[in-house]
Amino acid sequence: KVKGSKPRPFLYEQEPLGYDFSALSPAIDPITMEVHYGKHHAGYVTKLNRAMRAAGVIHEGKSLEELLFSIGPDDTDLRNNGGGHYNHTLYWRTLQPGGAPEPEGDLKGELEETFGSIEAFQAVFSTAAAKRFGSGWAWLMRDSDGALKVTSTPNQDNPLMSGIAESTGTPLLGIDVWEHAYYLNYQNNRKAYITAFMERINWDVVASNDLT
Ligand code: MN
Repeated sequence: KVKGSKPRPFLYEQEPLGYDFSALSPAIDPITMEVHYGKHHAGYVTKLNRAMRAAGVIHEGKSLEELLFSIGPDDTDLRNNGGGHYNHTLYWRTLQPGGAPEPEGDLKGELEETFGSIEAFQAVFSTAAAKRFGSGWAWLMRDSDGALKVTSTPNQDNPLMSGIAESTGTPLLGIDVWEHAYYLNYQNNRKAYITAFMERINWDVVASNDLT
């Protein structure tokens, strides 16, 4: 197929998972991982690149973070697919096997100061994930005032979307509560998935998300 004479647009790419589909089992089963990474996330990347081509040069060369910060509620394709790409990238990284299984150091101290205790933070985060109606995400984020906060967003929105999200800031940790993230293994039992997720967080990665 012959392409036009336009310069090739900037394309986003899905980064390698970096671990086996079975690495998070039994918390997250290998088939869910394969379909979630290989079909759902890959689909967002394909559709994001299609939306970037449709948008022409308007967003050319922007990082994904810059793109999400700058879009508005009516930029539907960029919102859904850009958010989908960003959110899943963060999710895979943060579930990477290894690292600290519990918060440590400065982040631990700040979580305790903000929420009262690590257990209290876990309860607030889990409740936000459980109560998100329909599809979406729950977040631990650092808001624009520099405070740690737990929020949730519908669909593939996230706290980077300054023109869309109720609370804007930097996502440190996100849990995907779309049914595709857990339905094969947990059916309608979202709470069991949330509990399993909480036990597989790589807190070294969460802490590093705070610095970038
Ligand atoms: Mn997902």
